[in-house]
Order: sequence, then C-alpha cells, then structure tokens
Amino acid sequence: MIAERIKIVEKKIDEACTRAGRNRSEITLIAVSKTQPNEAIIEAFNYGIKDFGENKAQEFKRKTDEIKEKITWHFIGHLQTNKVKDVVKSAEFIHSVDSLKLAKEINKRAAKIDKKQKIFLEINTSGEESKFGLRNEDEIWELAEFCSGAANLELVGLMTMAPFVSDEETIRNCFRSLKNLKEKLNLAGFAVSELSMGMTNDYEIAIEEGATMLRIGTAIFGSRNY
Ligand SMILES: *Cc1c(COP(=O)(O)O)cnc(C)c1O
Repeated sequence: MIAERIKIVEKKIDEACTRAGRNRSEITLIAVSKTQPNEAIIEAFNYGIKDFGENKAQEFKRKTDEIKEKITWHFIGHLQTNKVKDVVKSAEFIHSVDSLKLAKEINKRAAKIDKKQKIFLEINTSGEESKFGLRNEDEIWELAEFCSGAANLELVGLMTMAPFVSDEETIRNCFRSLKNLKEKLNLAGFAVSELSMGMTNDYEIAIEEGATMLRIGTAIFGSRNY
C-alpha cells in the first residue's frame, strides 16, 4: 500500500517538475509520519524515503529513540521552549521557528551538544488566525538577523502552510509570497536557500512555485487515525 502510494506521489512530482522546468534532484520529499506506527515509517524507509517529519515533540522523541534506521528527521510542528531539548537532539531540520524566544532556546540547547541546528522560519502567508507562523515583517527581519548571528543556528529556509481550500490561486499566492520573501532576504545578504511548502492537497502547485522540501503525509500513509 505505502509503496504504491509513494509511486503515485513520485510520478506526480516528476510531472510537476517537467511542467515547471525543474530538476527532481532539487526537491526533497519528506514523509510526514505523525500518528503513524513505527512499522509504517520503516516500510516507507525500505522503499527509499530517507526524510521523515513529525509535528509533536513527545511523539518525535519516542520515534527517534525507537527507530534505528538511518533517517533524516524533520520537526515540523509548533514547538514549546520546554520541549526544545528533545527535538534538537535528533532533528536535522526544525521547520517551525516562529519566535525569538524559541530561536534563543534552540540556539542554547544546540550549543550544549555542540551542534549547529538547521532551521526554517515559519511564515504565516495566508493570514489565517488559526495558523502559526510569523506575519509581521519587522518581526521576520529581527528573527532572521538573530538567527544569522547565532553561533549554533543555521537559517536555511522558510516554511509555510497554505490554507486548505480548493481555490488554486489562493494557494499559489501563499507560495509566491514565501518565495518573494526568500528573495528579499537574500538580496539583503542572508543565504536562505530552502522553501518548505506543499502538502498532500497542494504539493504540485508548490513545486511549480519553487518548493525545495515537500511535507507529505496523507498521500503516502493514507488518512490518519487520531
Ligand atoms: C500534517 C502536516 C503535513 C502533512 O499533511 P498532509 O495533508 O497529510 O500531507 C505537512 N506539514 C505540517 C506542518 C503538518 O503538520
């Protein structure tokens, strides 16, 4: 089942790359394994997926402790400062940095284990109150400045979630504004290369708009049982 689903997703990724004139090798597929059992993760790993994403610190800790496969782990969910330690221990990337307080704590915890933690700033591009992420431009710039100057942080990219709607233009505009922000930051001297955007509902649009990391759950594992 999982293998079949991955095949379909890979085919759609290839087709979107062709449409957009992009190379598949520019894009990392992250399998979002939240709520899924370890066996499902191992099955997807054995089929060739090396990157997995989790959104809850406790579940992240459990799975990264239990699963011994050589996985590249991504933390993609809202993170509270008291849970930072467990996440920094095993996450190659943290996609959801959305406050100075959180960035400072990650920097501090990474320093303790002599690590340079790769991070994304999470941007709220849809304006939805229900979503996390930075909306205020001044706050975004302040945080980018802090992260770039922090000894144990490496700001690699920006992350966003488009709204769950059927209107393609609304989704596309969110992804475009993330890309525009990346270009603005780079013009100002930051070196932000990654765009973490695109989920089951909208990853083909995200590829067309420049995504370099896709976070896909349902299309790989099927629907979640909470
Ligand atoms: C759950 C989740 C995803 C994946 O969602 P699907 O619609 O199942 O592909 C992506 N990003 C974040 C931050 C998530 O929490």
